[in-house]
Amino acid sequence: MLKHRRTALERVDKFVSATYFTDCNLRGRLYGDSCAPASLSCFQTPRRIPYSEAVVQEFRPVGVGDSFGPTWETCWFRVELSIPPAWAGREVHFVWESDGEGMVWRDAQPVQGLTVEGEKTSYILTSSLKETEPHSLTLYVELACNGLFGAGKGSMIAPPDPDKRFTLSKAELVIFNRDVYELLMDLEILLDMAKLLGEENQRSFQALYAANQIVNVCDVKDPATFPAARDLAAAIFSQRNGESQHTIHAMGHCHIDSAWLWPYEETVRKCARSWVTVIRLMERNPELTFVCSQAQQFEWVRSWYPGLYTQIQDYVAKGQFIPVGGTWVEMVRSMDGNLPSGESMVRQFLQGQRFFQEQFGQMCSEFWLPDTFGYSAQLPQLMCGCGIRRFLTQKLSWNLVNSFPNHTFFWEGIDGSQVLTHFPPGDSYGMHGRVEEMLKTVKNNKDKGRVNHSTVLFGFGDGGGGPTQKMLDRMKRMSDTDGLPRVQISTPARLFSVLEKESSQLCTWVGELFLELHNGTYTTQAQIKKGNRECERILHDVEVLSTLAVAQGGTFQYPASQLQHLWRLLLLNQFHDVLPGSCIQLVVTDALQYYAEIRRTGTQLQEEALQSLCGELLQLRSGSAESTLVLNTLPWERTEVISRTGPAGTEALALVTAPSMGYAIVREPLLPPQPVRVIKQEDGSVSMENGVIAVCLDTMGRLTSLRLAHSERESVADGCRANQFALFDDVPLYWDAWDVMDYHLETRKPVTTLLKPLEITMAGGLRGSASFSLQIGESSTLTQEIILDATCPYIRFSTQVDWKESHKFLKVEFPVQVRSANATYEIQFGHLQRPTHWNTSWDWARFEVWAHKWMDLSEHGFGVAVLNDSKYGASAHRNVLSLSLLRAPKSPDATADIGHHQFTYAVMPHQGSFQDAGVIQCAYNLNFPLHAVPASSAQCPAWSAFSLSSPAVVLETVKQASLLSRRREVEGAILELLLFSVLWFLPSSGVAGRIGHVAAVTPLFQLSRDHFGLAEAEDRPGAVVVRLYEAHGSTVVTWLQTSLPVKEAMLCDLLERPAAKGHLPLEQQGMRLSFTPFQVISILLVLRQ
Ligand SMILES: [Zn+2]
Repeated sequence: MLKHRRTALERVDKFVSATYFTDCNLRGRLYGDSCAPASLSCFQTPRRIPYSEAVVQEFRPVGVGDSFGPTWETCWFRVELSIPPAWAGREVHFVWESDGEGMVWRDAQPVQGLTVEGEKTSYILTSSLKETEPHSLTLYVELACNGLFGAGKGSMIAPPDPDKRFTLSKAELVIFNRDVYELLMDLEILLDMAKLLGEENQRSFQALYAANQIVNVCDVKDPATFPAARDLAAAIFSQRNGESQHTIHAMGHCHIDSAWLWPYEETVRKCARSWVTVIRLMERNPELTFVCSQAQQFEWVRSWYPGLYTQIQDYVAKGQFIPVGGTWVEMVRSMDGNLPSGESMVRQFLQGQRFFQEQFGQMCSEFWLPDTFGYSAQLPQLMCGCGIRRFLTQKLSWNLVNSFPNHTFFWEGIDGSQVLTHFPPGDSYGMHGRVEEMLKTVKNNKDKGRVNHSTVLFGFGDGGGGPTQKMLDRMKRMSDTDGLPRVQISTPARLFSVLEKESSQLCTWVGELFLELHNGTYTTQAQIKKGNRECERILHDVEVLSTLAVAQGGTFQYPASQLQHLWRLLLLNQFHDVLPGSCIQLVVTDALQYYAEIRRTGTQLQEEALQSLCGELLQLRSGSAESTLVLNTLPWERTEVISRTGPAGTEALALVTAPSMGYAIVREPLLPPQPVRVIKQEDGSVSMENGVIAVCLDTMGRLTSLRLAHSERESVADGCRANQFALFDDVPLYWDAWDVMDYHLETRKPVTTLLKPLEITMAGGLRGSASFSLQIGESSTLTQEIILDATCPYIRFSTQVDWKESHKFLKVEFPVQVRSANATYEIQFGHLQRPTHWNTSWDWARFEVWAHKWMDLSEHGFGVAVLNDSKYGASAHRNVLSLSLLRAPKSPDATADIGHHQFTYAVMPHQGSFQDAGVIQCAYNLNFPLHAVPASSAQCPAWSAFSLSSPAVVLETVKQASLLSRRREVEGAILELLLFSVLWFLPSSGVAGRIGHVAAVTPLFQLSRDHFGLAEAEDRPGAVVVRLYEAHGSTVVTWLQTSLPVKEAMLCDLLERPAAKGHLPLEQQGMRLSFTPFQVISILLVLRQ
């Protein structure tokens, strides 16, 4: 070995180069002889069709070099192969290189995914060709005309190019020289050690000298020289580390976005292509583990690729294919845990865990969200309530401003629940098992000294097919080699168990994990956001009404299977590229169709439940209604102005009172204590007052004054106008639909072009209103009706926008006369504070944040809240509350948000704290309108199903218990499991199409029936689950009263499993419940027959 480091390094480099000296170097020997297919033909279709349908079509001859398309088409290739007899004893690969994503089919089964980007271009036909093997065979290649990341025109996230062509550049049989490959892998690792460990490190030189010696020893034309060369490498790799070395737990992974730059339907095939590839790899590498999230994707593969699914189940049983996450889909991205409601999040876990239990006999113990745009401070409690105390993610490494201070830590939610959290320190969920990544993982780890273990997730995502043989072979060489971290193929359970053991020194992060990026996704694709909020409400109401209808007795059947179907559609759309709006137009179309289906079927289910619940009251004796049935699905009494059909068939307003979660017949409406007064002044301004609040509006609909009636305390800041629209330039750095940058705030332009000045539209009495129109930007228009109802403590802004902008951001601002360092925002089952100042980088990085139904700015004794019915983006800087209304990004959907929008927000000044003033209840009221139905004149006292003694507690959910929770009838864990699998297949569970399984378990079922008297358990109507949460942030005791015939009540977890010692005594006042701040409590109620 001579002394020149650089020449030695480059010499080895050239010996393995794929570009230089391949005529004489080792790389040039990787493949031996090749031979073209005997014949190649193709059938093309715009549809994604099954194999059986494809292969009977007419195929036309094609050749290598031909191109296909356009985008989203599918080409089926028939490939006839004939392996030369002379290749006996050799490893033979079928090599396919093309644009697009391919799947090899053999004997009517999918066998291998193909993608150049994911380094999957070979299907191994045999590792040693035997004389007896058939030398002729037919394969099919199903080629999707889209890339790994769709078909963006010019850049990845640009809208898809509809006319892309996809070229087949190679299709051949080839001999693969495994011994050359192994030596190449040795040299790659040695070379990387030499380069990356650096000149100060003697290991670097040891690796370099070994590599140089290998080149000396190895004669590329004589494989007999290879073993000696490999021994030189093995001598280095087998020099062990000391005891203190860091251990990396490597796990195969393939994050697949359920829809993003391609439609949902393509994801089904992406999953199959990737997972079949993983199975092939597992056959050859029994140590390989692969972690896989999203129950929805398993469900797709189960129903579209049953053969493959059976193989997956086998590898799940072996512990290699590891389901993780426990949710239906990985929820929203910058929000994956931001936008879905608390109940939606619970259902993500309920549907997900239930699926994993049913399909694989195990629930997940880790929550898994590698790619999500921020994490709600409510998530730790929801995880714990679903049996999950471990959490893995990494997206916070994308923070634009601040570097998150930990990789392994305890994350504490708003209620105090803690989960052990790990971010892979390599800041990626798609690594390749390289030396560089392992060194980065150790170096980057912010918890050095606290924990000595971390993880690496390796594999190509999004259809890239996950891990490769190369990745595994790299890491094998790094399993325990002095100078490199120990790399073990591991599992989430092993990783977290060892982290738990080492956890005594870990830091704790309290509150949300806010992603300082992608904050535009709170607003982008307003119709999807609106669909989500509305459908969450519809499913809530269907469940309440159906549960009450069942509890009443009679023949009404709880629509369990329809509800499961609708919930799954809603949950699917909460995927982290759909609800955030960062998807292509094709996906938006699908998502809006799903919402339409939920609205349509949900409305029908509501009507059916209502008919059953109060059918007699609704029967009309004549054609016109004499009175109105008013129904309230919220857990407090409400007095509101509604619109109802009067005796003459005309619509009229009425002030009515509806009991807490119940109904009343209204014949004579109430008289308001004070009618709404609306007065137009000479200058065109309008004032409105209802005895609760008083407002003055200028001709542009802006609030010049907002007061509580009988109070001089002004809400609008001096010299300012509230309800001021503002338009901002909105040009991010790259991620168009995702990002709004801090500098957009410097481009603020108030909207002041009046199209139609303020006019009174309703003169007062029960309702006063006034309307106006503005021009926004160059060609968009906004019309707003400002509405004040009798007795209502907030003023509503019903808004219509025709939006035709490009890269603009519309907000509405409320400068208020309130001084506070913090504003409050509603999140799932609670709220949190964020600063109104920009003191530190952590403060100003949150210039655009998310909230659910309300936000509030309060000082001691007084405050102002802004409520909304479908918006999520918000901010509060100093004394200005802003609600983000509409954006106009052009990528990946060039048509995003262009068109008509309707939404409502409201402003509510209040005395005292927002808790005491009922802001939370008002925000619910705005989102859950009373149901008003024409009724007969029958006499009927008001009926309330549930009520609570404390306003701090919200009864959020009333639903029928899922069958899972009925397991409590059975004593004994084993029978519990058996029973569970049986119950799941009962027709009443609504899961059709699994009849085959029923036969297999029937004998067991009968055994358990006979021994445990289960006939009774399953024949009676389901138990009821109610879910409540403490909303004020207080420790409180409340009584839950119900008029349902409750026989037994017990606490349960979020998966509806009864808690040990969770029995709740039934007392005269109801059930006594004690809450700590933001605690979520679920109760199972068993009803009397
Ligand atoms: Zn993703």
